Amino acid sequence: MNQPPVPQQDTAERGPCHYCGEAYEPGDHARHTEPVHCGPCITCVDKPPCFSCRLMYCVCDVHRYRG
Ligand SMILES: [Zn+2]
Ligand SMILES: [Zn+2]
Ligand SMILES: [Zn+2]
Repeated sequence: MNQPPVPQQDTAERGPCHYCGEAYEPGDHARHTEPVHCGPCITCVDKPPCFSCRLMYCVCDVHRYRG
């Protein structure tokens, strides 16, 4: 028997976030995973609130990049 221990993949629930790259707390889960049906901007529609749309013409209040 020479089976190496399987590493625990413990990060599925707790980031880092696909969209903003932050490792988020469980309490912040919704902000990073709940889709927002924001509007006409096809780049950011259905992205969670943490996503920053870098499209110059984005008119979306939720996702517009505030640099
Ligand atoms: Zn995020
Ligand atoms: Zn948006
Ligand atoms: Zn956008």
